Amino acid sequence: MSLLEEIRRTLNAYRIHPKKKLGQNFLVDEGILEKIISYASLENDDVVLEIGAGLGFLTECLAKEAKRVIAVEIDPKLTRILVRRLRKYENVTILRGDIMKIEVPEFNKVVSIPPYSISSPLIFWLLQKDFKCAVLTFQEEFARRLAAAPGTKDYGRLTVTVYYHAEVELLDSIPKESFWPMPEVNSMIIRLKPREPPFHVEDEEKFFSFIRAIFTQKNKKLRNAIMPFLSEIRIPKKDAVSLADSIPFSYRRVREMMPEELGLTFNHLIKRLYEMNSAALKSD
Ligand code: SAH
Repeated sequence: MSLLEEIRRTLNAYRIHPKKKLGQNFLVDEGILEKIISYASLENDDVVLEIGAGLGFLTECLAKEAKRVIAVEIDPKLTRILVRRLRKYENVTILRGDIMKIEVPEFNKVVSIPPYSISSPLIFWLLQKDFKCAVLTFQEEFARRLAAAPGTKDYGRLTVTVYYHAEVELLDSIPKESFWPMPEVNSMIIRLKPREPPFHVEDEEKFFSFIRAIFTQKNKKLRNAIMPFLSEIRIPKKDAVSLADSIPFSYRRVREMMPEELGLTFNHLIKRLYEMNSAALKSD
């Protein structure tokens, strides 16, 4: 029986209609399932997290190769099917809940076809975790944003944040026909490998606030785009203008700046802020 037939039969048997809101598009191409698994180079001591396990076909393949699989699924009806389908695998833990809210045990790899509606928060969530590699599928346009070059339309806050934390590879396109029900656009398999940051920033938390703020105005020149950030950290207007003029690359547009250049600018800014603070303290 083909994967498509098996999925349709299971859904019929349980009287389930795929929910668009939960991104329930099931992969029906076995060849792609195998590719996804092979990209994770699984070994028998790997603990794999799967986000959005659906009907459990990927989960079952993972269970055969990894030491342990943690399969998270939000839909209670699907969770029930998962428990039944996978009960012969002692190394599978099924967790019912929203991946963004539940507590997840430790894992060292991620292999998943997650719901597309949570792509962006999921990436930010994952980048805070400690793991070796993640093989994920996303909508093609989203995948391109992860690895976009400066100056292109896909380049943005997401690109810079991911670049800082991980190496990204765009591996394969998946035609939309490989899913049932068929989504509107094609997908892409990507791999993330966390790494040491490729450049240094003085204060990571502030750097990402800076990135968030300036990319809301990414078509502006840096000296203008930086103003909301300066007001967020309570720099008086008159100081903000002179600061904005003093930073490197102040006349470049945000969307054209490489992550390393943004790091340099930020470090310069932080240094100036310290100098201003200590001068203010002395004159008090
Ligand atoms: N991996 C499966 C299913 C992909 S569809 C396959 O390819 O066949 C995405 C799955 O994620 C659905 O089963 C959906 O119910 C589940 N899901 C949606 N939002 C979720 C969330 N916030 N947390 C966990 N699972 C979620």
